[in-house]
Amino acid sequence: MSCPFGAIGEKSEIAQVLRSIQDGNRVHAELAPSFAGQFGPLVKPESLKTALIQLGFAGVAEVAYGADLAIHDESKKLSLLLAAQPGADDRAFIGTSCCPSWVLAARSHYPELAGNISESFTPMVETAKKIKGYDPLAKIVFIGPCVAKKTECFRPQVAGFVDFVLTFEELAAMFLAKGIDPAQLPSNDRLDEASSAGRAYPIAGNVAKAILDQYQANCSTPIEFNLASPDTLRACLDILNQIEKRQITPPPRLVVGMACPHGCIGGPGTLAPIKRAKAAVEVFAKE
Ligand code: SF4
Repeated sequence: MSCPFGAIGEKSEIAQVLRSIQDGNRVHAELAPSFAGQFGPLVKPESLKTALIQLGFAGVAEVAYGADLAIHDESKKLSLLLAAQPGADDRAFIGTSCCPSWVLAARSHYPELAGNISESFTPMVETAKKIKGYDPLAKIVFIGPCVAKKTECFRPQVAGFVDFVLTFEELAAMFLAKGIDPAQLPSNDRLDEASSAGRAYPIAGNVAKAILDQYQANCSTPIEFNLASPDTLRACLDILNQIEKRQITPPPRLVVGMACPHGCIGGPGTLAPIKRAKAAVEVFAKE
């Protein structure tokens, strides 16, 4: 994103996805919740679903469903940690697993803290597991704002669930090539697989809020604790540096790292300005 010459670019899988469809596979799309607003203000979420079906996808699922499961899972881990009553000098925390860039950076730069990063499946994988549940032979394409997800797919634990990753930018190119304008398509088939909290996941701060809300809802006597929700990779690493040096008092027990500015709505594969994307995600989350 920052290189003025575009010297580094992600590997595109457009050709592989189209080949898989042409080969007769049932190729399902799973849409990251940051899709709202990415294809222009006139494109309703359901029209995007219609456009994906016209492109050849066998089905369309919301990754916000997997985000709901992740909220539940991380809040359970947080409950266990807080119940263990770590002392003020204890650096134990739950680091969320949903952003592969943050996870990779944390494990590479702060290996002594890496054990705190959750091993939970990401929303992308949880949603793919659901699709495989009703269509075991499905090929699955994650479509989102993220380039790091392309790397996540190489992890052995993930490779069996997600076959390809496309960015919104790549999807827009496919629509253009096939002459599909989602703004002109009907919006009959509702997307209704997720809660507001899951759909609001791509905005920085909302993951922490969702996990906190879930923890408080499940706990009869919630414990007060400090949390951190850094966005940008620099801010993520700064927090880890401060934790390592015991510079934060009390130390955070929940760290929700997101490598992109403002969260996934600021991801490298996005098409819409962050302000407009944020507003669209908030509207869709309330539907
Ligand atoms: S914050 Fe950026 S790198 Fe992290 S999951 Fe979202 S888009 Fe990907």
